[in-house]
Amino acid sequence: MPDREQLITSTDEVSRGDVESVLGRGDASGSNDPDAHFDVHANARKYYDIAKSPPPEGVFAWQREHIRTHDQGADGYPLNIILDPAMREMYQHVHAQGLTNVFDRWQQQEKIRCTFCTQGLSCQLCAQGPCRINPKVPRGACGVDAHVMVARNFVYRHVTIGTAANIFHAQQAARTLKAAAEEPESGLTIRDPDKLLKYAEMAGLNSKQDVNKVARTFADWVLADMGRPYYEEAAMVQAFAPAKRKELWRKLKLFPGGGNSEVAFAK
Ligand code: SF4
Repeated sequence: MPDREQLITSTDEVSRGDVESVLGRGDASGSNDPDAHFDVHANARKYYDIAKSPPPEGVFAWQREHIRTHDQGADGYPLNIILDPAMREMYQHVHAQGLTNVFDRWQQQEKIRCTFCTQGLSCQLCAQGPCRINPKVPRGACGVDAHVMVARNFVYRHVTIGTAANIFHAQQAARTLKAAAEEPESGLTIRDPDKLLKYAEMAGLNSKQDVNKVARTFADWVLADMGRPYYEEAAMVQAFAPAKRKELWRKLKLFPGGGNSEVAFAK
């Protein structure tokens, strides 16, 4: 193993997510095995040089000091775009240890990104593809033009795939909550009843009863709301979305309906 100072130098110079990092070079810059990395806590100069998060009342001013709207070029990446103080600290910590992370991987990808894909002008939705569109070849094999291809890529790939995944997670969380209330022998427990009661109250449910009963009612409320049709306002959005946003969505006739139905309708 190289000594600690060598590791600090080498990890500073290597962007995580590169081929050495993925394939492994047998030292801290080439492996994601935590045991293969130097102990960043043991290196006081390196770790404590990292600007720490301010207390909550100072976050806004701290962010303005560290992030400037017109300074988001490649030179300062990624610290000139990470707004969250804890995330800034975490990134520096992770990068210094030579661990792969989303910011360094993104930078690596940026160098080899395909211009068709970047513009949304590449499609692999069916077996007739992949298709790419440019001024000389303005339509995919099925006949779609650039407008349809870009819109479809945005809605299908960027929005509904993630929405569907999050709906599934929420559904499983609601089912787990219900199981914790109904089947104590399962080993599942409600670890933060105060939070549950608060959310039930925000949802407009009766939170002044036995916590297991609240859990069942709340879980059923969530599950039923996911199955609501897209043309009815979602109860969860009504209960938890910011007031100004809800006002705007209603004005634009975009207020979300039930999650499952919204995804199906988008498709
Ligand atoms: S552009 Fe049309 S034909 Fe080509 S992959 Fe997409 S859906 Fe299929």
